[in-house]
Amino acid sequence: MKLVVQVKLLPTPEQAAALEATLRDCNQAAGLVSRTAFTTGVTREYDLRKHTYAALKERGLGAQAAQHVIKKVADAYRTLKANLRAGNLGAPGAPRRIRVEGKPIVFRPHAAQPYDDRCLSWQLDARTVSIWTVAGRLRRVAFTCSDQQRAMLAAHRRGESDLVLRDGRWFLIATCEVPDVPVTAPDGFTGVDLGIVNIATTSGGVRHSGKSLNAVRQRNRELRRRLQAKKTKSAKRLLKKRRRTEARFAVNTNHVIAKAIVTEAERTGRGIALEDLQGIRERVRLRKPQRVTLHSWSFHQLGAFIGYKARRAGVAVIYVDPAYTSQQCSACGHVDRANRPDQAGFSCTSCGFAEHADVNAARNIASRGVADWAVSHAA
Ligand SMILES: [Zn+2]
Repeated sequence: MKLVVQVKLLPTPEQAAALEATLRDCNQAAGLVSRTAFTTGVTREYDLRKHTYAALKERGLGAQAAQHVIKKVADAYRTLKANLRAGNLGAPGAPRRIRVEGKPIVFRPHAAQPYDDRCLSWQLDARTVSIWTVAGRLRRVAFTCSDQQRAMLAAHRRGESDLVLRDGRWFLIATCEVPDVPVTAPDGFTGVDLGIVNIATTSGGVRHSGKSLNAVRQRNRELRRRLQAKKTKSAKRLLKKRRRTEARFAVNTNHVIAKAIVTEAERTGRGIALEDLQGIRERVRLRKPQRVTLHSWSFHQLGAFIGYKARRAGVAVIYVDPAYTSQQCSACGHVDRANRPDQAGFSCTSCGFAEHADVNAARNIASRGVADWAVSHAA
């Protein structure tokens, strides 16, 4: 399983200047290679190197940096082609697609730059790296990380790391290849219902409230309304900053919730049943605004976090059909819209079973998990 570890660099002002100059230079070079790729139609790394390597060397780029720049451009074109093929940019002839196809891929001056072990070495105990820049090799650039991250880097870091500049802060994003943990045969399943008021509710009745996250979102929505009327540059900057803070807060909230759910499953020897949200998108029942929000990246991210934390712990995960989990009675199976007298409540019109609506839904997800697991592991 692939995981990424992000560490924050703490460069001195001189080191930061050298890193900044390096990103600028590499991305200028990438722009040059990209224009060549576009005009010649050559986008494979090997062929692209023949066309552009000498020019990059002439610009003063080192051999390894030149190769990385060429690889970065080749990768970008491969991703673009895959996106075009998958129809992510519209059908052939769509305005957006024509716009993208009609010009070379552009690299922002501060776009991320990949580094391999020859250009970047890690001194994990000292928490420093030595990194190639256009101003020569920088030694002892400090970084911060948790002990857990350091152990992960020491044991499992493989291949390239990306140098990233984001909101004036420097990061290295390293890829780790972690061996799969064998899945423990589950002793029952915990169902997890994802929602707005309660971000996650388990069939055991644990509700992870979205109160603080929703408060932040609400505050930002109001601020957005006020600032959007202004349309000044500083208002736009503030909005962008707020959006990022909100996103970071949501990511952190999702990590905390996912961890709590997986730890509980590990402790009780249960598996975890989640709604198959991919399925929801293809369904037509999207009238409720809450369903629309289910599409948002935050829900997919929470599902993804639970999924990988569970895999890492050897906890079984199963994705179940999400249809009618909120309208079905988890005691007798009766499906009826009228089972939901209000947003929070569930009361079965057939057997009289009453429960918090999210807990009832989570119980349905849990029993579907048990049934699906039995079917898929029958042999
Ligand atoms: Zn019932």
